Amino acid sequence: MSSTQSLALFERAQEVIPGGVNSPVRACKSVGASPLFIARADGCRLWDADGNEYIDYVGSWGPMVLGHRHPEVIQAIGRALEQGTSFGAPTELELELADLVVAAVPSVEKIRMVNSGTEATMSAIRLARGFTGRDVIVKFDGCYHGHADTLLVDAGSGVATLNIPGSPGVPEAVVQYTLSLPYNDIDALESLMTRRGDQVAAIIVEPVAGNMGLVPPREGFLEALRDLTARHGSLLIFDEVMSGFRVAYGGAQERYGIQPDLTCFGKIIGAGLPVGAYGGRRDVMACVAPEGGVYQAGTLSGNPLAMAAGIAALKALGRPGVYDVLEARSQRLADGLAQAADQAGIPAVFNRVGSMLGMFFNARPVSDFAAAKTCDLERFAAYYCGMLAEGIYLAPSQFEAGFVSLAHTEADIDQTVAAAARVLNSLND
Ligand SMILES: *Cc1c(COP(=O)(O)O)cnc(C)c1O
Repeated sequence: MSSTQSLALFERAQEVIPGGVNSPVRACKSVGASPLFIARADGCRLWDADGNEYIDYVGSWGPMVLGHRHPEVIQAIGRALEQGTSFGAPTELELELADLVVAAVPSVEKIRMVNSGTEATMSAIRLARGFTGRDVIVKFDGCYHGHADTLLVDAGSGVATLNIPGSPGVPEAVVQYTLSLPYNDIDALESLMTRRGDQVAAIIVEPVAGNMGLVPPREGFLEALRDLTARHGSLLIFDEVMSGFRVAYGGAQERYGIQPDLTCFGKIIGAGLPVGAYGGRRDVMACVAPEGGVYQAGTLSGNPLAMAAGIAALKALGRPGVYDVLEARSQRLADGLAQAADQAGIPAVFNRVGSMLGMFFNARPVSDFAAAKTCDLERFAAYYCGMLAEGIYLAPSQFEAGFVSLAHTEADIDQTVAAAARVLNSLND
C-alpha cells in the first residue's frame, strides 16, 4: 500500500496549516502515523489520494450513519443548491428540520440551529446560566463538549489523545466555575450537589460517552443526574451531538428514558454538512434572543444546504427497522472482534451502545476516564497501524468511538473481523 501522495500532501499542508490538519486528532500523532488524505467516499468505503481503499469506521467522526453519499442526501443537497447557497433569512427548510427534531425528541419543544456541536454546547451553557442566574457548570472527566473555553476542562477526545490537561489560552478565571467529576460516579455527584447545588446552573453530560472510547452510563447514573438537578433547580443538559439519532432515533434520552431540560445536537442532523443545534423546554428556550435576552446568533445558521441534508437524513433514519439493522450489524462486529481478541489471547474490553463501539486494550472493565487511561496505548497504536494496512480505517486514538453505518454489510463486517483476527494474532508475536 503506497502513501506517496498522502505523505507529499501532508508535507505541503504542514507549511500552511498548523500541524497540517484542521482538527488535531486527524494528524494521527498518538499512533505514530501520518494522516491519509482522503479523495472520495461511497457507502462504507473511503479512497485515499494514492487510490487505496478502506472500510470506514470513523464515518466523519459520527455524522455518516447512513454511509457516505447516501442517494437521498445527495439529491436533497443538489435540489437546495439549485435555489442558492445562503440567504441569511428564514427558510422553510429550517422549519422542516426543526419540526423533525421536535417530533423525534419529546424533551425538545423548541430548537435553535447553529453551525457546529461546539456552538451548540457553548450556547446551551450560556442559556442555562442566563435562565438560572447561576454560574457553576458541572461536567464529567473524559466527556468532550467541543472546544469552547468553559468546557475545556478534563475533556476527552483530542485533548485526551494529546495528553494535555486543558489548553493554554483558557484563563483560570474562565474555568473557575467549571467543575469536573468522574463519569458514572453517583456518590461524587450527590456530595457535590449537596454542598453547592444551589450555585449550579447546569450539569452537562454525554449520556453515552463517546469521547473517551465508548463508555455507557452505569445503571442509575442518568436517573441520579435527572433527580439531583431537578431537586436543586439546576438544568440537565444532554450533549447528544454524537448519540442523537445514533443510539436510537430519539437519541440516548429515548434509549434510557430520561428527559433532560436541554439537548445539544450536531453531526448526524447535518448528514456531513456543518450543523449543530440546541433545544429543550419551551420556558428555557424562551430566554434565547430575540424572544428573550440571552444573545446567540450566526450568519450561516440554518444554512439551506445543511438543512436539506439533515432533513433527508432524518427522514431516511425515521423509517421502520433502521435501528434494528444498525443494532444487528454492530452486534455482529462487536462479537466478532471479541472472539478474535479472545482467540489471540489479547486482553480487551468491548463497550457498545447501538452502533457506537469501543474496544479497549485493557483487562478490566472501563466505566470512566481513569480506567480508559490505563489502556495499553502502544498496543492500540500497533493494532491501528495493522488494521490500516489491512484496509480498515479506524479512529487513530484509543479515546475515540468507532461507528457502524447502514452501509456496512455483513460481508464488510466479516471482512473486518477476519482482518482484526490476523492483526491481533500478529500483536502477540
Ligand atoms: C463532536 C462533539 C462535539 C463537538 O462538535 P463539533 O461539531 O466538532 O464542534 C460536542 N460534543 C460531543 C459529544 C461531540 O461528540
